[in-house]
Amino acid sequence: MKAAAIRILFASSFVSLTACGAPTAPSIDDAVLRAFNAAPAPTGVDAAAIINADATPGEWLTHGRTYDEQRYSPLGAINTDNVKDLGLAWSFDLGVSRGIETTPIVHDGVMYVTGSWNIVHALDARTGAEIWSFDPQVDRSRASVMCCDIVNRGVAIWDGKIFTGTIDGRLIALDAKSGAKLWDVLTVDLTKPYSITGAPRIVKGKVLIGNGGAEFGVRGYLSAYDADSGDMLWRFHTVPGNPADGFENAAMEMAAKTWNGEWWKLGGGGTVWDSMAYDPALDLLYIGVGNGSPWNQRLRSPGGGDNLFLSSIVALKPDTGAYVWHYQTTPGETWDYTATQHIILADIEIDGAPRKVLMQAPKNGFFYVLDRATGELLSAKNFAPVTWATGVDMKTGRPIENPAARWPGSAPSFQLPGPLGAHNWHPMSFSPRTGLVYIPASEIPFAFADQPDFKVKKSGWNTGAEFLAGSLPTDEATHKALRAMMKGRLLAWDPAKQEARWSVEHFGPWNGGVLSTAGDVVFQGTSDAHFAAYDAASGGKLWDYFTQTGVVAAPIAYELDGEEYVTVASGWGGAYALIAGGIIPTGSEAKVGRVLTFRLGSSGELPQIAPPAQAKAAPPPSTASAETIAAGALAYAANCTVCHGEHAMSSGLTPNLRYSPLLADAALWKSVVLDGARKELGMMSFNGILDEAGAEAIRAYVINEANSNRDAAYYEAIAGTEKKP
Ligand code: CA
Repeated sequence: MKAAAIRILFASSFVSLTACGAPTAPSIDDAVLRAFNAAPAPTGVDAAAIINADATPGEWLTHGRTYDEQRYSPLGAINTDNVKDLGLAWSFDLGVSRGIETTPIVHDGVMYVTGSWNIVHALDARTGAEIWSFDPQVDRSRASVMCCDIVNRGVAIWDGKIFTGTIDGRLIALDAKSGAKLWDVLTVDLTKPYSITGAPRIVKGKVLIGNGGAEFGVRGYLSAYDADSGDMLWRFHTVPGNPADGFENAAMEMAAKTWNGEWWKLGGGGTVWDSMAYDPALDLLYIGVGNGSPWNQRLRSPGGGDNLFLSSIVALKPDTGAYVWHYQTTPGETWDYTATQHIILADIEIDGAPRKVLMQAPKNGFFYVLDRATGELLSAKNFAPVTWATGVDMKTGRPIENPAARWPGSAPSFQLPGPLGAHNWHPMSFSPRTGLVYIPASEIPFAFADQPDFKVKKSGWNTGAEFLAGSLPTDEATHKALRAMMKGRLLAWDPAKQEARWSVEHFGPWNGGVLSTAGDVVFQGTSDAHFAAYDAASGGKLWDYFTQTGVVAAPIAYELDGEEYVTVASGWGGAYALIAGGIIPTGSEAKVGRVLTFRLGSSGELPQIAPPAQAKAAPPPSTASAETIAAGALAYAANCTVCHGEHAMSSGLTPNLRYSPLLADAALWKSVVLDGARKELGMMSFNGILDEAGAEAIRAYVINEANSNRDAAYYEAIAGTEKKP
């Protein structure tokens, strides 16, 4: 179409030149004419554009910039010498104060980002001015079947369309120019607790999308949809269904031999909620597969078994979804050790030989290097403290487990990493210049214990783990000791030697994703509201910016008019923030999420925004019996902790129940907890999960907590003293 237009232009200029009485007829060089006529039509973003992303280093066309997801920018105008002059060029207010995990896409001067509740924004990448926004009007009550905040990790772009997944399980295509909806398909069974938080990837015109829900009880899968029509092309399940129903393919038949019992009744888990990568030369798509559902393997698959493909990296053919190979990081996983963490493909030298590798640092604390053609394990080494295994047996490729780590009973089994992982979804980065992988690593321990009398809830968490056992202690000495154990760092890891090169200790765990650049700068945001630049070779801090709220998202770099920009989205949130953010100081507050863009020589300033205030209602006196309060503590841990925080102390992302006016009014409390009065705000009805006595016991427990000596004053005091300016 465009090539034809060029031909017409050429013809008309020929005519006009002739008409204007040019002294001689213009002679068009045949070679030039051929080149123009053969020039490919500008197709926007397609397979060739993404495969050749290094030819347009100023753009950021897919989630990890390239199909190998290295999150390395070839731009080097901002370098170790001048990064100190970086300043705020513009900021865009996303208007929400929940976790922001988006990686922006930048194409043709436009930036596409997502905020909470799946609202998509198209921004002028030069100024941050909004071009359009799209609100998919998600069912906000789905927030209650999301483990880890109402987050989204970004959109995909392809052939003039923007694609986004929603927390209510839809995949939506938008017109990139106008934001108009082109199609909208449901990718999940909404009677089950599925949700989508991940960014779609697009390979060969197929939009690839997974889902989450393995904390609640689902069967994981990845689906491929036609980018033009929205028609589903294939679906790959990651765990087998009920054998009585027959198997979808030979891979499922093979996987079923590694399961016992009636795992399908709770789905089995294995959700594909985040990572993918693609090798166009091998034509292999790689996906990271999540944890078991329920976590507790004795409930999920009595008698054990590897439970394929939980906690695995699986290679598929993108045309058909056919299984090619897998590597399982944690056979028979029982700790929520997902292998959904960021997958990076690279060509590196190992023992003097070039190898085409796949690298992952999943939750379980080991850094894996695989041959990406075959899935052969090349090396594995722990990059963080690990108690559940002593290493990986290179003969079998299996972890050498610590037998006591399988929490066999109700006595708490204290393990590192915990379910939040030594590395969670926060993207890492590989710099081909330094040969290092930069990992946002954490140390967050957890005490695993059997949930007594486990019963499947029709909604709500179904892990088979007693969360009260894993609850943080509240006496001051233990609390301080545990606080000291909670760590977070930026770790520069040499994947060829499997050793740390340098690390930077942060204020606490749960820090942002990482970007490395050809300027030999590594960028990362932190839980304590800073965005900083480090020397890629040494880890020396080169620049620092106060972002007002914690950063968990990953930065990107792009170029316009010859100028390099660095963007990161700010907005504290996610699982750690929700669960522990009220009781362990995080150095961060829930403030408005923003898109922040920096450039050399700029000096813009952020408007000050007060954290969302919650009126502090004085709690009524605690008059319930010890038995009722104890029952309430158990029910709170099972149903409420994951959103409202340990000991009813929220980080501010959700209402702090200790201050809730509902505490003083049993009828109001019931209207919210059982009747769904705040469904539209994301608080679903627990009717059918809790009875009236259960809801009332939780109220008694929260009242008791609000009156107890482990009250807000102590935690607010330490949060205040430990917070960095
Ligand atoms: Ca999980």
